Amino acid sequence: MYRTHTCGELRAADINTEVTLAGWVGKVRNLGAMAFIDLRDRYGVTQLAVNENSPAAVREIVDTLGREFVIRATGTVVERSAKNPKMATGEIEIALTELKVLSRADTPPFTIEENSDGGDDLRMKYRYLDLRRGPLQRNMMLRHRMAQSARGFLDREGFLEIETPFLISSTPEGARDFVVPSRMSAGQFYALPQSPQTFKQLLMVAGYDRYFQIVRCFRDEDLRADRQPEFTQIDCEMSFVDQEDVLETFERMARFMFSETIGVEFGTEPFRRMSWAEAMARYGNDKPDLRFGMEINELTAQAKGHGFGVFDDAEYIGGIVATGCAGFTRKQIDELTEYVKRPQIGAKGLVWIRLDEGGEIKSSVDKFYTPEVLREWAVAMGAQNGDLIFVVSGERRRSLTVLSELRLELGSRLGLRDKSRFAPLWVVDFPLLEWDDETARFYAMHHPFTSPKPEDIPLLESDPGAVRANAYDFVVNGVEVGGGSIRIFEPDLQARMFELLGFTPESAQEQFGFLMNAFRFGAPPHGGIAFGFDRFCSLFGGADSIRDYIAFPKNNSGRDVMIDAPSSIAPEQLEELNLRIVRPE
Ligand code: ASP
Repeated sequence: MYRTHTCGELRAADINTEVTLAGWVGKVRNLGAMAFIDLRDRYGVTQLAVNENSPAAVREIVDTLGREFVIRATGTVVERSAKNPKMATGEIEIALTELKVLSRADTPPFTIEENSDGGDDLRMKYRYLDLRRGPLQRNMMLRHRMAQSARGFLDREGFLEIETPFLISSTPEGARDFVVPSRMSAGQFYALPQSPQTFKQLLMVAGYDRYFQIVRCFRDEDLRADRQPEFTQIDCEMSFVDQEDVLETFERMARFMFSETIGVEFGTEPFRRMSWAEAMARYGNDKPDLRFGMEINELTAQAKGHGFGVFDDAEYIGGIVATGCAGFTRKQIDELTEYVKRPQIGAKGLVWIRLDEGGEIKSSVDKFYTPEVLREWAVAMGAQNGDLIFVVSGERRRSLTVLSELRLELGSRLGLRDKSRFAPLWVVDFPLLEWDDETARFYAMHHPFTSPKPEDIPLLESDPGAVRANAYDFVVNGVEVGGGSIRIFEPDLQARMFELLGFTPESAQEQFGFLMNAFRFGAPPHGGIAFGFDRFCSLFGGADSIRDYIAFPKNNSGRDVMIDAPSSIAPEQLEELNLRIVRPE
């Protein structure tokens, strides 16, 4: 028998019991006559003790133990003289009578403790050792609990868990596909799904009514922070529903998961709803962090026409009030200015207005505006003495992005983004289409199957850019946790949508014929949502990185450095696949 108990379960009530534990050796403190060993497994840590009364054989083995050896230890549970209230098992220790080394260990390349001394790269290379650490184990357990909680909820709501294929065909919409060469169909390729979108819609056509899947999705995108080439969604679809039904169901699921896995309750008020247009105007982005205020105020009308060229020529002028920040030093303001001038954000500069406690107004644009005018802006923005105002101008969309980034950065610096607080909301009424100047065409803001709001359908002909979609995002703390839409289920409307997206009837038929044909055989009205499960987990865990919630993630260059993937394949494999590498690296 390897063990009678785990390393996390013995308590004072077990004193005098004979037990056998198995696990990994953490710290060994050898004090001559006495020695203490921390024995660790997934469930916790238990102290093993050796003293002058212990069998000689045991004492000999203790001298040979190294970190991360796997051992089996038998002994009696005894009361500790020095109790450790920080440990669940801190009241007891095991007086060893038998000890066996089950597996020796090389010295690990980094310490396997709460805070490791290993750098990122090293820990990724030895991911299985990193995964042995408490924080990662807790993350995996949280992920497991969240998955079970979602699954349980959906099962009780009548959702069927149905798997959809990973080897599908490539489509040009959306992100870039990962492709897999086919051996049996020479010169042809499968693609890995970016999501099960079309399959879940086909399941609705097939009458399954409610579907879900905790499923891997693949997108060959440039890896920005917090993105993984393969990631997991809780993917769901329902028939005979409108937007309200979907939001109601998944709001309940979110509440259930928050409550069941991390004990967070949100009271009886429904989650806030905000239109995309409002989110953009007030927060500068479509996933507002509502843990704090500091909303954007537009000043375009007030600030123009005073001879300040930069403002006079701007399409948009707007600002935010940094409450209580009048004491910011020049250096602090310069730092923020540099922050928003970074190329990713693209500000030209930051105008500031300081409202001293004493009532005096100073600004970086004193030459152009009298204190009275500046005071008027301040009043319009709800600013008070002791506040600092930042103003940004330029092209509308860009300025809003700058203000959004500035707001978030200020929020972080002022400690307003506490990770243990959660501010959920639904963002609704997204635009259906997005115009791209470069390619001079519309793109689907969500995806091509998203339905327009019925009242906006006439605009599809006159002003497609103004059409709003039956699309929604679930946002928490500035993170888009989920998104979905009510789908088009009328073949003619779907054909019109493809046309707007630049497909010819032939190319639409070629790419999406299977779906459009299916819709001709009786498609129910349907809609759904997908939650980014990795991100959901990191949000619950109060972390920034999704990587820490994925057992075996890729690094920033999309590589798995542990198994060294991607890698080249043998010439025979290429031959078999009818492939030739034209440009070896
Ligand atoms: N498949 C969509 C996505 O991955 C979500 C949905 O519309 O249900 O974003």
